[in-house]
Amino acid sequence: MARSAVLVERMERVRASMATAGVDVLLLSLGADLPWLTGYEAMPLERLTMLVLPRDAGATLVVPRLEAPRVEHHPEVFALRPWEETESPVRIVGELAGLTGVAAIGDRTWSQFLVDLQAEAPAVTWRKASTVTSPLRSVKDAAEVEALRRAGAAADRVAAQLQGGAIPLVGRTEAEVSADLGRRLVAEGHHKVNFAIVAAGPNAASPHHEPGERVIEAGQLVLCDFGGTTPDGYCSDITRCVHTGPVPSDVADAYALLQEAQALAVAAATVGTPCEEIDGAARRRITEGGHGPDFIHRTGHGIGLEAHEDPYLVLGNTEPLVAGHAFSIEPGIYLEGRWGLRLEDIVVATGDGPDPLNLADHDLVVVEA
Ligand code: ZN
Ligand code: ZN
Ligand code: ZN
Repeated sequence: MARSAVLVERMERVRASMATAGVDVLLLSLGADLPWLTGYEAMPLERLTMLVLPRDAGATLVVPRLEAPRVEHHPEVFALRPWEETESPVRIVGELAGLTGVAAIGDRTWSQFLVDLQAEAPAVTWRKASTVTSPLRSVKDAAEVEALRRAGAAADRVAAQLQGGAIPLVGRTEAEVSADLGRRLVAEGHHKVNFAIVAAGPNAASPHHEPGERVIEAGQLVLCDFGGTTPDGYCSDITRCVHTGPVPSDVADAYALLQEAQALAVAAATVGTPCEEIDGAARRRITEGGHGPDFIHRTGHGIGLEAHEDPYLVLGNTEPLVAGHAFSIEPGIYLEGRWGLRLEDIVVATGDGPDPLNLADHDLVVVEA
């Protein structure tokens, strides 16, 4: 399907979803909703960019005059309204949106614009745009799944370099290895690096450890969690642990348990299964193995244009998986002061069962590097 045909079809589904939710106008600025719907990503600026999409009228992209040349215009999707430096973009949005009814505004919109819009239109009732867009965006079409698969394959190639010993570890700092992983993500086809966690030894017990000046030693566990965004906007996210020398038995036992729990959760990720059940599949096994209290986060998050988005695989989320949901499965076991382990793949739910997008070796590989 041509790009603009995809956008037109998405806009039709958004309007239907607005009708169901009782939303009169959708207002989108920063964040992934706008590029998903128009192909254009707003600059994070004090100058307002905002798509105004009334349920029953044409959409208009209100954009600073100096940004307008960057807009790839699809006239069948939206009209363009560049604003001059002497105009008030908030007033323009207010006039296009109407000053009554229910408005849904992008979750990542800066509050300075929402506060000004609320003053401009005091009678409007405000909702989060995600109530309209998230159920649509979380279900990926075939082209989006292939984009995620390419991102996953690129991250897999970096993981294989790590596991194959191509990335020196011992004697380098976590920060140096993190920068190395980032360069390799770009070399393998990412447009930008979103994160590259490298946590050695006891630092791995902190799931979102900031890579620092700790020098990696021989005989240490090294947890690496990295991902980026490809030129077409889709994200990768993978975690692999390696060991710089023989693996102590307590670490080997815990890793075997983690690997089993992760595989159980992947196998449980079938269409119709509630999100919390996938978390449960991993958590029950880890609890049986005696490490329940050491698994201190949810099992996974959705992924797409954003690295973290709906659906979340967490106790309490009873939403059933549908074909096209894409998400991470990343249980972990963390022992403070000692070590931490996590194993993460991106998986897509399909009518034929779970489709893992990361195929890099799932073992705790010993790296002599
Ligand atoms: Zn994380
Ligand atoms: Zn990750
Ligand atoms: Zn993740």
